[in-house]
This record gives sequence, C-alpha cells and structure tokens, in this order.
Amino acid sequence: MAVKCSRCGKPAVAEIRYTRSRLCREHLIEFIERRFRKGNEEFKVFKNIRRIVAAVSGGKDSLAMLYLLHRFSSVYGYEIIGLTIDLGIDRGKEYSTKSVEAAVESFKKLDIEYVVVDLSREYGYTIDFIRDRGRRLGIRRPVCSVCGITKRYIMNRFALELGADAVATGHNLNDLAQFIFTNMYGGHIDELIKMYPKLPGGNGFTAKIKPVFMLYEKETTLYSILNNIRFHHDTCPHLENGIGGRFQTAIREKLEQLEEEFPGFMLNYVLTYMRRIRPLMVSGSSMGGDGDGDSGEKISVGRCRICGMPSLRDVCAFCSIRSRVSLKVSETISRSRGD
Ligand code: SF4
Ligand code: ZN
Ligand code: ZN
Repeated sequence: MAVKCSRCGKPAVAEIRYTRSRLCREHLIEFIERRFRKGNEEFKVFKNIRRIVAAVSGGKDSLAMLYLLHRFSSVYGYEIIGLTIDLGIDRGKEYSTKSVEAAVESFKKLDIEYVVVDLSREYGYTIDFIRDRGRRLGIRRPVCSVCGITKRYIMNRFALELGADAVATGHNLNDLAQFIFTNMYGGHIDELIKMYPKLPGGNGFTAKIKPVFMLYEKETTLYSILNNIRFHHDTCPHLENGIGGRFQTAIREKLEQLEEEFPGFMLNYVLTYMRRIRPLMVSGSSMGGDGDGDSGEKISVGRCRICGMPSLRDVCAFCSIRSRVSLKVSETISRSRGD
C-alpha cells in the first residue's frame, strides 16, 4: 500500500524525518518554501535588498535558490539578475559548457535578465589551464582555491558594476554544517564568522547572502526535481576527494551519518551556531555587526593597485593569478619571436 501524505492523505513522495512527516508533491513544495521564508525572515536576509545578483552554477542548489528567489521576489520586493561563469572546465566531460547551459535555460524559462562571464575571453585563463600549468607559472594554490578566488572576484565585481545590493549563492545546510565544523576545528575565526545567511557590503564589497542556508541538500534536490528544473548532475572533474581533500569529505560524511542517526542534527547544529555562538564571537571581534541581521564582514582593507578592487595586499589575489598567467603568455610570445 502506498505511503500517504501526513497532511492530506495523497500518495507521499518523500519522508522528512526531522519533522516525522511524509509529504505529497504539493505539501513538500509548500514545506520547503515555508522553510525558505522562515529562515530568511529570521535573519532578515532580504532587508534593504532591492537588487540581487543570483550566482548560478547550473547545479541543483543554485538553481533551487534561483527558483525560490524568483517565486518570492514580489513578496520581499527585490529584482534578480542572473550570473553564471564559464570557468573553462572540460576534461572530456564538457563540464562548464553543460553547467552554463543549465543555468541559461533556467534564466530564460523564468525570464530573468542574465550575464554569462567567459573566464577565458574576459580574463585570459581557464580553470583547466591553471590545473595543468599553474605550478609551472608559480601559482602554488590548489586549483579549487584559484577557482574560488576567481568566482568571488567576478561575482563581487559584477554585482558592484550593476549596482546590486547583494550577491546570492546556493550554499545549503549541509555545506554550512561542514564549513562551521572545519573552521571551528582549524580555529579560523574570520572564516567562521562569515558562516552566516547575510554579510553586509561596504568597503568595495557587495553584501553576500545565502538564501537556501536552511535547506538540506536533499531538500534542494527534491525541490529541483519536483519543479522540473533541469540541473547539471556531474561533479567537477577537479573535485578530487572533495574541496579541501579527504579531511573535508570525511567531516561531511560524519555529519551526514549523525543526521541519519539523529534527524535534525545538522539543522540544530547550524542554528545553534548562528543564534547563540556567532553573536558572542562577533561582539568580541573586529568584524562587528549592527545586530539587525547585517552582522559580519566589516574589515578595513586597501585597494589593489592593478584593478582597484578591495585587497589586503598591494595586488589582490585575482590580479596576482592573472599577472602570472599573462607573464607566461608574453614570455612565450617573446620566445617565439626570438626576442
Ligand atoms: Fe572550482 Fe574546485 Fe568547485 Fe571544480 S571543484 S568548480 S575547480 S572549486
Ligand atoms: Zn499532501
Ligand atoms: Zn586586483
């Protein structure tokens, strides 16, 4: 006999163990949407936000975020501009091509204005190129670190140019639980403080928001499937044992095991951190908040002498990567000319 929805008695499509309920399609969508609204309202994520740049990779999390943002845009009064970056990751899987295609398909379907930034065309390198040649160019960072710097730089720059109030990314609850745990373990206080649904802008930074922070990965997946969102399933070919390697993967697996054993564990863990622990850390750090949902990134920084964007160093990390790449290109040209 088919399992019935706890609310209406229709056939259930999924079980939500932490609420001890089984839900049909309509009630599951309603449940997920209610949690999206509840989380963002508690942390005042959309307060004073009128224009959001939605950073969409083409995967399930960022696309679920895009649909949820779109669904409630008139309720909270913001407009959305889509952004996707062609990182130039191929490796025989056309990873970036397919990711960008999925993102663009949804932007068009929802009639959202969007921009595709082609890393190779705009900035002269690809992530595959860094993976293959980075070491020889003197770039010592792992490929995922270069990729992260690149994405954050482009998101911020693009949002500033468009006069957006915030950049939205699709980090889900599992991501947040993992980041909080590992940053706490490593004592990375500045990174830990950034684990929050909303970080304010200023100083050359656009505000950053994580509107699906309260949704489990399973819920963003279900929301995408139930809404017939075509997302890109493949994992990045550079994701060798996960970002940060075996340690990060192990932490994530252990947290997910705890969730299995004690449903609701991750949600409580993340919310306890955000509601009780982080406020104490913020009040004792230089990255103070205003106590109104806008707590976080208030550090004084200088400007990169090349691009003028905020930087703690004379040249920002992004320009430093670019200059190493372009140096190599000009050396190659000189050599071929016999200079
Ligand atoms: Fe970039 Fe690494 Fe993520 Fe691939 S796995 S998209 S290289 S950060
Ligand atoms: Zn139902
Ligand atoms: Zn720079």
